[in-house]
Amino acid sequence: TPVVRKVIHIPKAQYGGRHTVTMLPGGGIGPELMDYVKEIFRVGGIPVDFELVQIDPKSSGNEDLEYAITSIKRNGVAIKGNIETGSLDTGIISRNVALRNELDLYVNVLSCKSYPGVIARQKDIDILIIRQNTEGEYAMLEHESVSGVVESMKIVTYDNSERVARFAFEYAKKLGRKKVTTIHKANIMKLSDGLFLETSKRIAKEYPEIEHNEMIIDNCCMQLVSNPHQFDVMIMTNLYGTIVSNVICGLVGGAGLLSGKNYGDHYAIFEPGTRNTGTSIAGKNIANPIAMINASVDMLEHLGHQTHAHILSSAVNNTVNVEKIHTPDLGGTASSMDVVQSILKHVLEATKSMKW
Ligand code: ATP
Repeated sequence: TPVVRKVIHIPKAQYGGRHTVTMLPGGGIGPELMDYVKEIFRVGGIPVDFELVQIDPKSSGNEDLEYAITSIKRNGVAIKGNIETGSLDTGIISRNVALRNELDLYVNVLSCKSYPGVIARQKDIDILIIRQNTEGEYAMLEHESVSGVVESMKIVTYDNSERVARFAFEYAKKLGRKKVTTIHKANIMKLSDGLFLETSKRIAKEYPEIEHNEMIIDNCCMQLVSNPHQFDVMIMTNLYGTIVSNVICGLVGGAGLLSGKNYGDHYAIFEPGTRNTGTSIAGKNIANPIAMINASVDMLEHLGHQTHAHILSSAVNNTVNVEKIHTPDLGGTASSMDVVQSILKHVLEATKSMKW
């Protein structure tokens, strides 16, 4: 009798059924984490090819950045490590910010969910951060007007505030979330944060089924530490977004766990949620690979490879929550490779038992 092949999911056909994704390893632990992702994809037979693009953070020319942008525009999707920009040289702009601006990736989504197997400062957190990703305090418009006086412009536009608010409420609706909180400092920055807040209030009226409230950023930080369970979906401008993301990641287990998604209308970039470089732990086999592997799961979901995404996220859950194979940042003694080996084992088991 002929073998009947059960098709569980047919991915969008591209280049013979495979997707090509731009891979930007960045600095520090980025390259080793990307090697783990590539190995897992190879062993799991995941139909994604990576186009490797290196960006030199110290280069003052823009050729490598332009090449990366062209590659992402061609492929539509990228996975990324952090590109170090520690330099205070004003001629060298952050490549990370430039990429997000050039591709108009106006929203950053961070799903902050506790791992039951990780001992953390707070349990059972499930917060969704929706952050404006291209303007605000990251406008990089600074100048020294007279010696000893520096001005830095914070740009808030109606259009971007509206896009982010709309994205947040639509996302909340799709996921059945109950409440959206706008985080701001409109009591001091009355025009800029005022515009952001008023815009989100106006959009909120179109979603009466979702509760909307507001909170000032300083109170928000205190509330996050003392009672984070009151938060569901949060929306905020760029700088508050990076601070709040790091606070929540710290509450659930640090920089090595969560992933973040950057979306625009045309392109998407997936990366570790706190965007750390981790230079001091590079090459030591101790970096936690989970955040980057989670970024690759997000990428698979975005590409429509739901089955592979599910296999990989189950492997992560088995490793982190069931077998509790944890790197030192989570209080464990496992190496990066131990974690990857465990994930590979679970991916292989799941792949073998699948009837494709
Ligand atoms: P360095 O880059 O030299 O580590 P830093 O202050 O720039 O110093 P970040 O890259 O911002 O550090 O990272 C913040 C902290 O989180 C550092 O202590 C870093 O070692 C740690 N960290 C970042 N990513 C990971 C990871 N994947 N696994 C474990 N620890 C991590």
